[in-house]
Amino acid sequence: MITSASVKKLAKSFGADAVGIGNIERWNGAPTQMDPRQIMPEAKSVIGMVFRVMRGSLRGIEEGTFFSNYSAMGYGGLTYLYIPMVVMNLCKAIEDGGYEALPMGHQSDWRAIDNEGYLGLQHSRPVAPGRAAPDVMIHLRIAAYLCGLGEIGYSKMFLSPQFGPRNRVGIIITEAKLKPDPIYNGPKLCNRCMACVRECPGNAIHARKTVKVKLAGHEVEWGELDCKVCDIAFSGGLATNKHVPKNERYRGPDSDHIKRAPWTPFYQKPRNLYNSGQAVCGGRGCLRACMISLEKRHVLKNRFKEKFRRRKPWSVDWSTSPDYPADAVMGKNRSDPVTGEKRGNASKSRKSENKEAD
Ligand code: SF4
Ligand code: SF4
Repeated sequence: MITSASVKKLAKSFGADAVGIGNIERWNGAPTQMDPRQIMPEAKSVIGMVFRVMRGSLRGIEEGTFFSNYSAMGYGGLTYLYIPMVVMNLCKAIEDGGYEALPMGHQSDWRAIDNEGYLGLQHSRPVAPGRAAPDVMIHLRIAAYLCGLGEIGYSKMFLSPQFGPRNRVGIIITEAKLKPDPIYNGPKLCNRCMACVRECPGNAIHARKTVKVKLAGHEVEWGELDCKVCDIAFSGGLATNKHVPKNERYRGPDSDHIKRAPWTPFYQKPRNLYNSGQAVCGGRGCLRACMISLEKRHVLKNRFKEKFRRRKPWSVDWSTSPDYPADAVMGKNRSDPVTGEKRGNASKSRKSENKEAD
């Protein structure tokens, strides 16, 4: 039999870190483009699941030496690989019990509205009056809130009592009527410390302007997030009013107003991992600064023996030449992209050694 308890037990056994359930009426008043009932009109419940991002996945960005792990394992890999497997397995069990269940491990890339809620008029059209334009976008952070899994912080990040901002969310929409959990009423997580605002490299979170919404009768407020600014800063770009010379453009030849930021070590934005992973800023403000602040206050359940920040935060000075390790083997005739100075010193034998090390 499918019950709240059996669903939660199964979800955890499949790999979810925390599970909560919201009855569908909690979405009353949701914009049509964001209402789960637009996808499944007979839906009775939404099952929300929290999946932790390993603190270790942020270590390489914190140290400035290994950036892809957060984008791959903590971002795209969780969203496109791990979460889908958990939600699909749980859906199988619910459908074996006789109730339709829709697995959602990631936001639809075909969605009709953008991150700021605006409808793209050239994208799709409703198939009948009263229906949303495809695809509907279920707001996963709000879904997690409505399933009782935690709070929405000033940063607009979903904060769980286990991991703070260090999580991603998967959901299942189902026709099974399950006992809902209360909206989170545990210890206050976001204390408006504003570390997210101060440390966001792109200044994407407004310090005073806020957005207020009513979710299942509760007032929820967060700082206004400039998604366009975040999108550039997040990938390691620095927007400028000045024209950027071609060889310094960070996001390709057309990005003539985006240069390399001090929070990226890459000459060009690296390619996305698992479709969406391009988190070069490593959530400096909304993720790492917030996590550090919450850990300092001892409000998170997932505790560590050592504090996260152990060294002074780094910053790249793009006007200077890089200092490579003395034992680094340069590719033949490589020139320094800043000074043009030739640096290549590779010999055949060192090249083949490196190949073996791969
Ligand atoms: S950094 Fe502080 S203000 Fe920002 S979301 Fe986290 S706890 Fe809230
Ligand atoms: S992802 Fe980076 S740029 Fe965007 S809000 Fe967070 S800290 Fe700021």
